[in-house]
Amino acid sequence: MKILVINAGSSSLKYQLIDMENESVLAKGGCERIGIPGGKLIHKANGKEFVIEKEMPNHTVAISLVLEELVDETAGVIKSMDEIDAVGHRVVASGEAFKKTTLVDDAVMVTMDEIAELAPLHNPAAILGVNACRAVMPNKKMALVFDTSFHATMPDYAYMYAIDYADYQEYKVRRYGAHGTSHKFVAGEAARFLGKAPEELKIVTCHLGNGSSISAVKGGKCIDTSMGFTPLAGVPMGTRSGDIDVAAINFICNKKGMDLNEGLTYLNKKSGVLGISGVSSDFRDLIAAKEAGNDRARLALDMFGYGCKKYLGAYMAALGGLDAIVFTAGIGENTPSVRAAVVSDMEAFGIKLDAEKNAIKNNGAIRDISAADSKVRILVIPTNEELVIARETAALL
Ligand code: ADP
Repeated sequence: MKILVINAGSSSLKYQLIDMENESVLAKGGCERIGIPGGKLIHKANGKEFVIEKEMPNHTVAISLVLEELVDETAGVIKSMDEIDAVGHRVVASGEAFKKTTLVDDAVMVTMDEIAELAPLHNPAAILGVNACRAVMPNKKMALVFDTSFHATMPDYAYMYAIDYADYQEYKVRRYGAHGTSHKFVAGEAARFLGKAPEELKIVTCHLGNGSSISAVKGGKCIDTSMGFTPLAGVPMGTRSGDIDVAAINFICNKKGMDLNEGLTYLNKKSGVLGISGVSSDFRDLIAAKEAGNDRARLALDMFGYGCKKYLGAYMAALGGLDAIVFTAGIGENTPSVRAAVVSDMEAFGIKLDAEKNAIKNNGAIRDISAADSKVRILVIPTNEELVIARETAALL
């Protein structure tokens, strides 16, 4: 079975064609500048990279180009589109409308339109991607795989905000979380690596990338997660503030003459480690700046490590113990100093890092970086969100 995984943004579209026989990636790539002059498709297959420069006025043209490449004589990996068994679409937010991976039909797409406002930067783009694929491949089965699904198992006291209950009922304002496919994947991989059934394990998964979120996973199910109604909540991030007293942003808005929307842009785009350091949102730049003596870069890194550590402690309490901590995504997989900061001074809780193992460069494999006498295993696990989307899509068929 071959599954095409689609991740559509407002002006971009990433894809992978995955052979489920051995879960190998047959081809992958992305379209850039959809709807903007200067469209470009980068397609990787058969050990080569193909660059196609062509205007893509909309997502339908983009997906048509991708399909042309997939069946092309030299760049292609399949003989005809019939070899694609189904398409799996990544969707950021499901609200309470969808709790699990869902087969696309007209009624589902009506609901998707209704909940688009929950993730105004992401869901409308996913809808464009689905509609484009349906236009070009009308008879193909398609699944929506939601970033929020893995978090649908949170108990009500974890996902509720302490606001007027009527507003929760009317507007469905609550914690939904994000990065669910990644948290699900690495929690499953951790159980496999440790040779245990997921049901036996209490795990804290740390997806630390440009956006970061931390989840508490008990018996294979998410019981709490750091992101909230939107991805703005939780630990400080590249450009997002993470948790903040909302009265503080009201105060800043009044001082700077900003309205609430401008205030939210400030918190989403100009805050986090970028805002603190004034250097960069990229952790590689921050570490270089800190080493060169920049104290605000030092502060940004310290705030990030401390912010993650507080969630780790909170989730140990929520889980009632801990078997493993998992680090994943760009920072989690590649940045030893951040991992060390998150688990520092936690020997009293049975968490002890092996500094040498932690320093080993990422080689794409799962690594146990805990000391031999650590009660809690500390693991580095490369994430693979596309594979989860392909697996979920295949399972639905
Ligand atoms: P996104 O949320 O955009 O998918 P990533 O998971 O790619 O983000 O993470 C990006 C972050 O990972 C950046 O802050 C970057 O500095 C950090 N990082 C550190 N080392 C590496 C590396 N070798 N490759 C990629 N990202 C790295």
